[in-house]
This record gives sequence, structure tokens and C-alpha cells, in this order.
Amino acid sequence: MTVRVGVIGGGQLARMMIAPAVELGLDLRVLAEADGMSARLAATAVGDYRDLETVRAFAQDVDVITFDHEHVPQEVLRALVDDGVKVHPGPDALQFAQDKLVMRARLAELRIPQPDWAAVHDAAELQAFLDDHGGRAVVKTPRGGYDGKGVRVVASGTDVDDWFSGLDEGGALLVEELVPFVRELAQQVARRPSGQIVAYPVVETVQRDGVCAEVIAPAPDATDRLVRVAAEIGHRIAEGLGVTGMLAVELFETDDERILVNELAMRPHNSGHWSQDGAVTGQFEQHLRAVADLPLGVTERRAAWSVMVNILGGPAEGALEDRFPAAMAQHPEAKIHTYGKAPRPGRKVGHVNVSGEDLDDVVYTARAAAAFFA
Ligand code: ADP
Repeated sequence: MTVRVGVIGGGQLARMMIAPAVELGLDLRVLAEADGMSARLAATAVGDYRDLETVRAFAQDVDVITFDHEHVPQEVLRALVDDGVKVHPGPDALQFAQDKLVMRARLAELRIPQPDWAAVHDAAELQAFLDDHGGRAVVKTPRGGYDGKGVRVVASGTDVDDWFSGLDEGGALLVEELVPFVRELAQQVARRPSGQIVAYPVVETVQRDGVCAEVIAPAPDATDRLVRVAAEIGHRIAEGLGVTGMLAVELFETDDERILVNELAMRPHNSGHWSQDGAVTGQFEQHLRAVADLPLGVTERRAAWSVMVNILGGPAEGALEDRFPAAMAQHPEAKIHTYGKAPRPGRKVGHVNVSGEDLDDVVYTARAAAAFFA
């Protein structure tokens, strides 16, 4: 029988599940926020994911619910589970990707390495943390941040007074030590409800202005120890938090070779786009296999190196597609992925994947092909 997979959210992650769903013979349905979203080709419903009755009506005709984002409220998710709907990842796991304070507390229980942190309720508590951590720290809003929004480097307890004044009674912000990282990494794993887990190679992610700009797979100069520790962290988090589907663990590597967890995403993730063209099983196919509880695919690389370059903003004039002929003619080895979104400064509107045996060549080609869309 054809398995019907319902995706809540109509962004590019849902869009990129469409092709593998067709190949796997899954019936993909998307609850989009509005008409004309990135995943419009599979949108069978349009509505508010925060509204229980909207989500319930959508869930009625599917076998399993999964997500394009982590913002569906806990009450809605728990009501679905009570209705008997399969939800992957489920609310018990997803809460750790929805709230960074809840995540930090749980990772501490699991003894997963992470930056020093605290929940702070006011400027005095923040100042006390700063005094203990060399006078600088990173403050984060526990919920709703993305692409660096909701993250601020501070040097004084009063630097986030605007955020403190917006908190609900008893609410707190997350403060973390300012990690002197040498680079950022990401480890992805996929886990089935029945427990099977596979890990992808650890990758290096390069952010600009808080937004992922490039990913290199695998992370250059990764020692055996780094590869092992990162994969082990991925396994322990997936099992410890009961994650189903794709899990991305964003990591910091420090100059004294510590690997610390920054944050989690329980869905396909920008750090894994390279795998669409660079791994035997891409992350979108893998996510679908995992949430449908099908045997997972191997994660081996198809080439020594893969590089993903995001297309941020897009062309100032005209459509992305207008640039296809020139980019494709110049770089026929580049795989261009577009999200069907209107260009806007800083917006992720597509990406380019290139794979090959020489890292310098691969980086050059991926950047050159992406530059056609600037
Ligand atoms: P978002 O949810 O917006 O992606 P993150 O928590 O991933 O926010 O932080 C965004 C970026 O800010 C990170 O990729 C990293 O470059 C920087 N950052 C976050 N936390 C720290 C930290 N504790 N120390 C140093 N840099 C940090």
C-alpha cells in the first residue's frame, strides 16, 4: 500500500522531499502556510500550522506526519499523537529542537559536551555570568531564532534589556560562553522509529553574518578522532532524545580539539544539502525512509569531496532561472537547485552542489557556478 507522508510547512526542505518521494513511490502531501510556497507542487492544503483543527484535518488523510520546520506548537503535536497519528519526530523529541534552554538542560543530563551556559532572568544574572566568563558571552532567545536572528554577543548585563523586557513572567534567556572556535562542523544522523541509525560524514560549515554560506563534505583535515567523536555525539543525541528522521547536530571545534554542541535540527538541514548529489543516499530521501520506517540507505560519499554553496539573495534583476543557460554552459558539472522563491537580499533561494576528487577544483567550480546567480 502506498504510504502517505504529510509534511507540515511548505518551504524548500519540503520542496526537496518531492523528487525522492516520487522515486520511492510515497504519496507526499504538504500543508503549506500560503499559496505559492516553495513546495507548492505538493501542497494539498494551505493553512496555519498553529491551528489544531487545520492540522488535524490535514493529518486525517496521511499515514505519518513530518516537518519542514520545528515551529508546530507542542499542544498541536500532542493532540495529534493522542488522536493516534504517527508523528516523526514526535513532540517529546521535537521539544529539544524548539527551545534552546530545554535542549541545553537535556544535553547536560546526557553529559554531551557543550559550551558553558546558564538560564538568566535579568541583567544582574547576565552580568554575573559575564564576570565568570571573561566579560563576553553569547545571549540567545530560547525560541524562534534562525539564521543568527535571536543571537547576540554581549559585553554587559544590560546589552539585551530589550529582550529581557519582552519575556513572560518567570521567562529566561540562554547565555553561553563565547566559544573560541576554529571552525564550525555539522554531524547528521538518521534514525528510524524501530531504532536503526546511520551517520553521515562530519562536514565543515562556513557561516557569513549568521547564515550558512558554504559546506565542505567531509570536513577537511578531519582526524579519525574527530570523525569518531562527532558520529558518537550524533548517535547519543538521536538515541537519548528519541529523534526519528534526520537529525543535524551543529558543532564547534576549538583550538584545543574540543567538540561542543551548538544546536540541533530535527529535519533535513542546510548542512546536508551536499548529500543530494554527493552521497549514495541524499538527506531528503533518507528523511523519508526514516519517517516511513523503511530500511535506511548507505551514507557513503560518491566522490572524495562535495561542496555546497548557497545562493543567497539571488539576482537583483530578473528570475534565477534566467541565469540557468549561462551557468550550466560554463559549469556543466555543477548541480543547481532552486527553491522557487522570489529573490530578496539575504534570502536562501537555491544552492549549488559540486563533487570531485580535488578539493580546490570543487570549491572553485561551486563558487563560480553560484556566482552566476548573484
Ligand atoms: P540560529 O538558531 O540562529 O542558527 P545559532 O545558535 O546556531 O543560531 O547561532 C548562530 C551563529 O552564532 C553560530 O553559527 C555561531 O557562528 C555563532 N554562535 C552561536 N553560539 C555561539 C557561542 N556560544 N560561541 C561563539 N559563537 C556562537
